[in-house]
Amino acid sequence: MSAELIDGRLIADYYRERLQESISELKANDVTPGLAVILVGDNHASHTYVKMKRKACSKLGIHSELYQFQESLTQEELVGKIEELNELDHIHGILVQLPLPQHINPITIIETISPSKDVDGFHPVSIGKMVTNQDTFYSCTPLGIIKMLEYEKIDIKGKHVVILGRSNIVGKPAGQLFLNRDATVTYCHSKTANLTDYTKKADILVSAVGKAKLIGAGDIKKGAVVIDVGMNRDEAGRLCGDVDFESAREAAGKITPVPGGVGPMTITMLLYNTVKSARWQLENRQKR
Ligand code: NAP
Repeated sequence: MSAELIDGRLIADYYRERLQESISELKANDVTPGLAVILVGDNHASHTYVKMKRKACSKLGIHSELYQFQESLTQEELVGKIEELNELDHIHGILVQLPLPQHINPITIIETISPSKDVDGFHPVSIGKMVTNQDTFYSCTPLGIIKMLEYEKIDIKGKHVVILGRSNIVGKPAGQLFLNRDATVTYCHSKTANLTDYTKKADILVSAVGKAKLIGAGDIKKGAVVIDVGMNRDEAGRLCGDVDFESAREAAGKITPVPGGVGPMTITMLLYNTVKSARWQLENRQKR
């Protein structure tokens, strides 16, 4: 039997429609959600991502501003720009597109962003709040995965979730969000011995590795939910995930495709966090 498809584009559209309602409410209160995007250097993929993010903002009526700098920008100059943006009331979210040039320390940069505008959810304050199960900005890809499962009405509580990958932006926060929802979580990484022993025990398998065809039907428990975060190129240069889709769909119960799975959800959650930030700002203003 072939797995049911989890359609990320359709689910992203659903959440974008809900966001549209929140944005209209904010605008009725004279608040337009605003996102500042900082892009340093000329990494081709970064330029593409920034373009996609700004286009998504514009479609929903979120104001976005692009600050584009040459590779030669110093760390001090970048810190100065972020400090300026931290002070601007019409900017609710600040996004620094990664990776940054070698001479700029990404940790210093992330820590310069005000936690109240940390719409990527990378600041240690946001991470600390996530770990202690408080409301905060959650990292966009992990949050997108959770929202997908909520839309699909897939139960998380008590489920065994196996996460492949332990990066700070995907694997680690994804595991934490599942743990916060009462899943039992196992992390696997490049040093994990006998990966299949773990993947085969997953009720929900999340792969965030970056290796094409890492996971096939033989690695999946019958009927499991498979979430493919990977973005790779196959031998023909086509975009693909970590999961060998045609093989895996024979074992999985539900599966996300690549493209059209997690990707559209990630951008939607950036919009979600920006709107959330604008709402918080408005609520604080109304309390005063
Ligand atoms: P990353 O920082 O390179 O992390 C990759 C992780 O995979 C590391 O923890 C690594 O282990 C682990 N790993 C490597 N080989 C492995 C193996 N054979 N078995 C198990 N684990 C292995 O990557 P990332 O930023 O988390 O991104 C992961 C993938 O998701 C990439 O393809 C990226 O393009 C994609 N991505 C997609 C979206 C989206 O919106 N769809 C968003 C972000 C990222 P170690 O820690 O031991 O090195």
